[in-house]
Amino acid sequence: MSGFDVHEHRHALKQLRDAGETSLWENRGEVACPACGDPFIRLFTTRQKATRFPSNDGSRFCLLRDGDAIHVFRH
Ligand SMILES: [Zn+2]
Repeated sequence: MSGFDVHEHRHALKQLRDAGETSLWENRGEVACPACGDPFIRLFTTRQKATRFPSNDGSRFCLLRDGDAIHVFRH
């Protein structure tokens, strides 16, 4: 399994937030999560060492470590 390049899936992702080291994307297609294979709802990407993300409503998350970035996929 390799990393996840948002630019490869740019046509199917909508960028909701870009804060430099972190970015938030919405899956408007059927892009599959590289960790579990199911389509995800949102992708949060960070290059920060430690990141807090908002509390959730019981959603399922997958994490992918990709070089100096971590991708968080919400289902
Ligand atoms: Zn997943």
